[in-house]
Amino acid sequence: MIRVIPILLAVLYGLAMYRFSAWRTAKELDEKSTELVDPALAEMSRKMAKALDLPRIKVHIYEVAPVNGLAAPDGRIFITRGFYNKFRSGEVTAEELASVIAHELGHVALGHSRRRMIDFSGQNAMRAALGMILGRLIPGIGVWIANMVASLLAARLSRSDEYEADAYAAALLTKAGIGVAPQISLFKKLEALTQSNHGTAPAWLLSHPKTDERIAALTRLQTRWMS
Ligand SMILES: [Zn+2]
Repeated sequence: MIRVIPILLAVLYGLAMYRFSAWRTAKELDEKSTELVDPALAEMSRKMAKALDLPRIKVHIYEVAPVNGLAAPDGRIFITRGFYNKFRSGEVTAEELASVIAHELGHVALGHSRRRMIDFSGQNAMRAALGMILGRLIPGIGVWIANMVASLLAARLSRSDEYEADAYAAALLTKAGIGVAPQISLFKKLEALTQSNHGTAPAWLLSHPKTDERIAALTRLQTRWMS
């Protein structure tokens, strides 16, 4: 029994961390967001809603500068003020912004946004439990190995989520008559922005797999659907 206690504590710690971070995220988003109402984007929203058989698609603006889009665990979709400004200034087209919304819709529809928070808690618990066990077995580097294993697992999970969300977006955009081209052109634009930005990638790229690999995956889908 004594041996199980550290693991139990680790799991409890992970659970507490999860509750806290979910609460904090929801609070931050509530305080710093408003519904996105833009006539220039309405047409895109309408097309995607029609393709999904939904009355409408609700999107929120999250008042922060980094270029990002996100899907909250409660299913709400956010575009950052920074991303929206790129659209307003003409650097990003309505179709390209629609591709981001479609990608985030994919995370919600495929259950990623909810699972991700669970993964987060699961990761913390696993990290702590593995750290304790390996730390005893291999003093010194045990904790380090535990962290590495947990990180590798998390990276794998999120990478496959991104490809799935991209594929969902590609299907939705195709059905809505917008097409896959804006997805690809946005990736290229954001990549170029990274170069002019002293190598600092926009947040939306950082949390995602490599741009050329994402484009290649989309092109494969396109070819498959065309033939
Ligand atoms: Zn994503």
